[in-house]
Amino acid sequence: EQVRRALTDLVHDVPDYPEPGVVFKDITPLLADHDSFTAVVDALAASGRDADGAVVVDKVVGMEARGFILAAPVALALGAGFVPVRKAGKLPRETHAVSYSLEYGQATLEIHRDGVAPGERVLLVDDVLATGGTVAATRELVESCGGDVLGVAVLLELTFLPGRATIGDLPLRSLGQV
Ligand code: IMP
Repeated sequence: EQVRRALTDLVHDVPDYPEPGVVFKDITPLLADHDSFTAVVDALAASGRDADGAVVVDKVVGMEARGFILAAPVALALGAGFVPVRKAGKLPRETHAVSYSLEYGQATLEIHRDGVAPGERVLLVDDVLATGGTVAATRELVESCGGDVLGVAVLLELTFLPGRATIGDLPLRSLGQV
């Protein structure tokens, strides 16, 4: 209930941002409200536990930049490590890289080669699932490290875009759908 209220009252629609025709979901008012931020972190962290509440992930991966804000406290809540996936050129050591197409042009994401160890179980966390390209690329990066992606947890799923189809069989928890 608190999560539902946080998503309806504290995520603001910004029309024509970052470009005309796009309605951007601004989560900063939610982050600024301690009770709401706590509630959504707890709800996202549930994806890293089994039915008995036992933690089943070793690492939580967050995607630059808003994914960092959510994935880091989820990692702490689970007693797991946090691993950043960043845009090209930002990570200082040896990386794996994956390029994928955006609506206009291309993007490249990177992970440190030793960010996830072979066999580690990983939860992906981001703010918004749109086309699913970011999640699919991040899954590829984790798998390049030898890790196993157990699922993805997002605040919001944009159901008018094919995110769920793009990520295929990967279990998805979205706290809200628009
Ligand atoms: P996708 O790769 O198309 O699924 O886009 C998801 C990525 O774009 C996520 O990392 C989001 O942070 C970002 N994104 C897309 N649409 C929005 C939005 O409306 N608000 C905030 N972030 C968005």
